[in-house]
Amino acid sequence: MSKKVRVRFAPSPTGGLHLGGVRTVLFNYLFAKHNGGDFIVRIEDTDQSRFVEGAEQYIFDCLNWCGLAPDESPTHGGPFAPYRQSERKPIYKKYADELIAKGFAYYAFDTAVELEAKRKEINNFQYNHATRLQMKNSLTLNKDEVEKLLNTQTPYVIRINMPVDETITFNDMIRGEVSFHSSQSDDKVLLKADGMPTYHLAVVVDDYLMQITHAFRGEEWLPSAPVHILLWQYLFGLENMPQWAHLPLILKPDGNGKLSKRDGDRLGFPVFAMDWTDPKTNELTTGFKERGFLPEAFVNMLAMLGWNDGTDQEIFSLQELIEKFSMERVHKAGAKFDYEKAKWYNGEWIKKLPVSGYKLQVAGLLKANSIEADDKKLTQVIELIKDRCTLLTDFVVQSSFFFKSPETIDIAAIQPKWNDHKNLFFIELIRAYELMQFWNHEALEKEFKEIAAANEIKAGELMLPLRIMLVGGKFGPHVFNIAEVLGKEETIKRIQHTLQKLEAQ
Ligand code: GLU
Repeated sequence: MSKKVRVRFAPSPTGGLHLGGVRTVLFNYLFAKHNGGDFIVRIEDTDQSRFVEGAEQYIFDCLNWCGLAPDESPTHGGPFAPYRQSERKPIYKKYADELIAKGFAYYAFDTAVELEAKRKEINNFQYNHATRLQMKNSLTLNKDEVEKLLNTQTPYVIRINMPVDETITFNDMIRGEVSFHSSQSDDKVLLKADGMPTYHLAVVVDDYLMQITHAFRGEEWLPSAPVHILLWQYLFGLENMPQWAHLPLILKPDGNGKLSKRDGDRLGFPVFAMDWTDPKTNELTTGFKERGFLPEAFVNMLAMLGWNDGTDQEIFSLQELIEKFSMERVHKAGAKFDYEKAKWYNGEWIKKLPVSGYKLQVAGLLKANSIEADDKKLTQVIELIKDRCTLLTDFVVQSSFFFKSPETIDIAAIQPKWNDHKNLFFIELIRAYELMQFWNHEALEKEFKEIAAANEIKAGELMLPLRIMLVGGKFGPHVFNIAEVLGKEETIKRIQHTLQKLEAQ
């Protein structure tokens, strides 16, 4: 029987969650669920100098919004707890010691001052096979000296002893066979002076202990892979190693390179999943959620950045993605981010979902704009205007006039073609509407056209003035639908109000 699939998302909680990060979560999640496996979130917070208050909670809030719930995590618990590396500190030392005993790692006692001096002496100094024999470490000091330094609590780090001339090869599920030469990597620190492991040691030890079967992460981690593979080989033997996949980057829409938060600021679109306030600077960065995206659309859009099912289908629910996802169909090349396309997905999902799927969010947005929307009326209004909205925030502009009289009326758009004849038509229309028994859009339209015909005015010439009277401007759904939702009293009131304004001109 094959092993149960176990994948992990292993973020370092250092700030907002970039959409590339969410896509890494998504591909992990889809792969796990497609294979009936588990999705684990492990918090990689061994670098205490990069600790950011609230960043971990923010990650879980984002996953929750996207509907990508972990099976195991620091907040969900699980059989391999703790899932926060800072709480696993005592675990790692033993593995670092084992590497030393086997000769795959060494103690390095160089002080900050000594390292700085070396950097000055050697251009682009790297602590590696070429320089390590000039440094103060257990490769250059004799056994007694090392013992003495250790016994006198001299601060040290433990570094990997990278082989001088070895080819490290592994199979990447997206890229196929990948090879590195061992001299490309420096002798990375594995255990720091404070006893904390670095990411390189912790990621390997935890993937092993947590029985991770597949490790998927962004392409930016590819250069670290040879170090991780060697550690796997030295500590656990390669047959236990997870299968790797390095996911293609999400690229800027213009030019080359990875999409960054700065690109979003520059081009006016979000890059983080949700609003993120940097606790140090108080700087707020807008997220897709607050910009008016539905989680269904955000997830769908992300899935299509680097994957497709081999057909032209673009709209997928999470359930469908789980059914159809396969790593074989993830592209090797980076995917250019296209904000207009992202909005298109959202518009499609607004049309596709039942109104109940986002009514509460719309009510919240209206409330933030001081509009209290009655539930039944709101459903009616959303049905009428949803085809005109691409972002949830569009509902505010598109629906405000249903709930309160327009603040401004575009009189200038009516006036040039206005005359007494048209004025009389509207007076007659008010009288007819006042007497109407059944207030629905078909009856309203019929009455309107009959009166227009009797007055020998083209109905088309009267529609725009009516729209502006009801809405304030030249937008909105079919005008008689608007009148139906507004009701008799409000419709007549708005027509009268504009007629008075026109008269006063
Ligand atoms: N802690 C790494 C990060 O911050 C995770 C890389 C990996 O998944 O191995 O992205």
